[in-house]
Amino acid sequence: MEQKWKTIIEPFKIKSVEPLGFTTREERLCILESAHYNLFNIRAEKVLIDLLTDSGTGAMSAAQWAGIMLGDESYAGARSYYNFENEIKDLTGYKEIIPVHQGRAAEKILFSVIGGKGSYIISNSHFDTTRANVEASGAGAADFPAKGAFDFDKPAPFKGNADLAAMERFIKEKGARNIPLCVMTVTNNSLGGQPVSMANLKGARNLCGKYGIPVFLDCARFAENAYFIKLREKGYNSAPVREIAEEMFETADGAMMSAKKDALANMGGFLAMNNAEWAAKARQLLILTEGFNTYGGLAGRDLEAIAIGLREVLEENYLQYRLRSAEYLGERLLKRGIPIVNPPGGHGVYINAKKFLPHINPRNFPAQTLATRLYLEGGIRGIEIGSLMFGRRDAGGGFLPAAMELVRLAMPRRVYTQSHIDYVIEVLEYIAGNKNSIKGLELVEAPEVLAHFSAKLRPVKQKQGLRV
Ligand SMILES: *Cc1c(COP(=O)(O)O)cnc(C)c1O
Repeated sequence: MEQKWKTIIEPFKIKSVEPLGFTTREERLCILESAHYNLFNIRAEKVLIDLLTDSGTGAMSAAQWAGIMLGDESYAGARSYYNFENEIKDLTGYKEIIPVHQGRAAEKILFSVIGGKGSYIISNSHFDTTRANVEASGAGAADFPAKGAFDFDKPAPFKGNADLAAMERFIKEKGARNIPLCVMTVTNNSLGGQPVSMANLKGARNLCGKYGIPVFLDCARFAENAYFIKLREKGYNSAPVREIAEEMFETADGAMMSAKKDALANMGGFLAMNNAEWAAKARQLLILTEGFNTYGGLAGRDLEAIAIGLREVLEENYLQYRLRSAEYLGERLLKRGIPIVNPPGGHGVYINAKKFLPHINPRNFPAQTLATRLYLEGGIRGIEIGSLMFGRRDAGGGFLPAAMELVRLAMPRRVYTQSHIDYVIEVLEYIAGNKNSIKGLELVEAPEVLAHFSAKLRPVKQKQGLRV
């Protein structure tokens, strides 16, 4: 965009539209009750602005839809696979490209190959499905977030970084031979969508290289991370964002990706690496659960859409608009005294519910409480990143709340306009004005693994009549 204008506009025009799901507050109260205060249980058509996730929810371009029509659905050796493979090889430089139906399939396969009891995967921060798949293999998942990452109020350019000194202490303690992999998550989803600097990626490579530990990028949002590097890291201001992305991949030996994020596709993912031995084992598992090497659980048309999306996502007008969208929402919430993880991440804004609702005990899920309130008042769906997602049981079966209570408002790519976001701001401003009357929630039922997807909750003090 030309430098002299300060308004950053949506860099697209709209060819096809979908109606939004309008409901009344009364209807939403009933819906919440029958959904057991779990927003995953609500029908999407009953959501007005859906900020649950930016995963697979983006709008594809006309070029991607055209690609869908050209998709080659051959079982083996489809042309669409080769387009997909070439695009990823070009971008990442890795030799072995394995398609999967989404990110967690790549995780499941990778950690089945390299994980297992007695081993540890180290990371700046594991994403929740990544951690679950590491642990399901029997391995431990150890996070080394940067100092300051949990100081949500204090902005810093690269709060997604790994604490390399702490990582090195851990490597020495556990022994490098018990650590098959370091995963650098870019951007750091669990910690507010915060970027990782190139210096930190290179630092991780040098550190792990010293101990013979390979590094993979969990690169769901590699393009957003690359653009943050361009904006914030010395020496990258005039570098084309594609070159920055390529340099990021050079710092690692492989990558896994959920293509539902920065490949601008609705479904898909890949595992990419140079290690031919790991790749051979991974393909064995791929055939077992995902499909043949040249489609891996995807239709040919999906492979085509991903190949095109991986190119489009690196357009600088797109990335400028993308990062500005979250920043715009974040700025306005801060102005209204609503605490967020500052600065906003690449794919959304994370409200600090612990600080926003200090009167709610962590055992009563302040973040889930805020998320359900946002739905009740405005039909807006966010996601809790707090004790429902990360709470644990202690040895005695007691409940251990998570360290943070966040509500993530994730922005689907190319879907909502500025007035949708202005509406979200207005609803949150209203909630902020009435927040002291908000009561917490209590757990009724929760499964062992990834509880937040299916837990049931209810408002506290239900017996005395529900006051909402
Ligand atoms: C979304 C995501 C995953 C998992 O991908 P799915 O496609 O949802 O299975 C893994 N890592 C990160 C960083 C993610 O954002």
